[in-house]
Amino acid sequence: MRTRFAPSPTGPLHFGSVRTALFAWLAARHSGGEFILRIEDTDQERYIPDSEALILETLQWLGLEWDEGPDVGGPHGPYIQSRRTELYREYADELVRRGTAYWCTCTPARLSAMRAEQQRRHEPTRYDRRCLGRQEEVAAERAAGMRSALRLQMPPGITEWDDIVRGRVEFDNANIDDQVLLKSDGFPTYHLAVVVDDHLMDITHVIRSDEWIPSTPKHLALYEAFEWPPPRFAHVPIVLGSDGQKLSKRRGARNVLEYGELGYLPSAIVNAMALLGWSPGTGDEVFRLDELRELFTLDRIHPSPATFDPKRLDDLNGIHIRSMSVEELVEALEHFLPGTSKDMRRQLAPMLQHRMVTLADAQVLAAPLLHDVVIDETAPLPPPKVTRDVAVAMISGAIDIIEKDGLADHDAVLAQLRTVAEEHGAKPGTAFRTLYVAILGTQSGVPVIEAMQFLGAETSLIRLRRALALLSE
Ligand code: GLU
Repeated sequence: MRTRFAPSPTGPLHFGSVRTALFAWLAARHSGGEFILRIEDTDQERYIPDSEALILETLQWLGLEWDEGPDVGGPHGPYIQSRRTELYREYADELVRRGTAYWCTCTPARLSAMRAEQQRRHEPTRYDRRCLGRQEEVAAERAAGMRSALRLQMPPGITEWDDIVRGRVEFDNANIDDQVLLKSDGFPTYHLAVVVDDHLMDITHVIRSDEWIPSTPKHLALYEAFEWPPPRFAHVPIVLGSDGQKLSKRRGARNVLEYGELGYLPSAIVNAMALLGWSPGTGDEVFRLDELRELFTLDRIHPSPATFDPKRLDDLNGIHIRSMSVEELVEALEHFLPGTSKDMRRQLAPMLQHRMVTLADAQVLAAPLLHDVVIDETAPLPPPKVTRDVAVAMISGAIDIIEKDGLADHDAVLAQLRTVAEEHGAKPGTAFRTLYVAILGTQSGVPVIEAMQFLGAETSLIRLRRALALLSE
């Protein structure tokens, strides 16, 4: 199996396009085949500088490495369409020779008048084939320097294919426009380039967004015209945002790399993306890339649109963070805890790991461990649902325990503090909030006994005594 991801450099990748790339990568890797990256930049007007570099960086960050592509080359290169224009022109000529494409000298003004008239008559808008019957005249016009485009002559009949995701798809060719293959500036359109490239690059499975389904009959007509065997198609459903609208660059869908800045792990993103329209059928939801690679098959993609749920990504991110080794986390946190030493992060990591949804949470969670805290109305003393008596008992209890036994034995400290809460008729979970406020200045945060161990007896006692003083004011 040879699959490809063929993005246009019209901006950074969003979740929708990354999900397509992931499916194409997984399908190839699952079968032991190759994954090819090709940049489709035939539409010069929509070109956005730097997007190509961002595309490569995003795929690399997610771990979706490619076997052939613009940077690594390969036997079918170049892998950037704007460097292959000569090739497309040769194949365009071949179609003219075969009589399956024709030149059209209709001006943009004529074409838009034609379209307006078709709309007025409530007819489908498509080229009326005016030039098809006058190719000799057209040749003369071209020789005289008139601008011309090359069009595919869509054959009559029905086009059908067995889509891996959609099943049987059928189109009446009568409803399909004679697609422009070469524009009047000599540049190929996507339709010509994609077919020539997929064929020359030996692509066996075209995996792409189902928005391309209406184009597939045109592509199949081109395969037919060249007498090339077509690849299999798997049209994957579009991804909707949580607002129910399609995710798209034009609607400002977020650059996937920005999620890295926000503290999302590539493994969690890959996991969340894989579940957008695919499931292994077992009910399991947590997967690493290598596990997905084992399990993934195209026939388990659902044809209905998938909705991106940010909450699910958060949950998966937390789970992936908790499955990291301390050393991995120490590494990953460097960016999010600037100014901390590796040693310090090694001590912080296990505490933070329990509570982080994103790596960026580390900064807020670690703040009370790295800086002094203020107790204010945002986390009052006593905390809600804790009586003053219980609060005083918890803090005095903690002071006694530290003074007597120190903090080394985590479980002993925990057991004694629970007893204090119970002796005062309070639920330990609620009563413990007092300690969170005293030590961390918040009602939740990193596990509080571990926090005291990290701060040491001296600092912990200072914070506890200060809280006690506040309570007795
Ligand atoms: N260049 C097209 C895009 O950006 C790729 C379509 C295809 O995979 O055939 O969506």
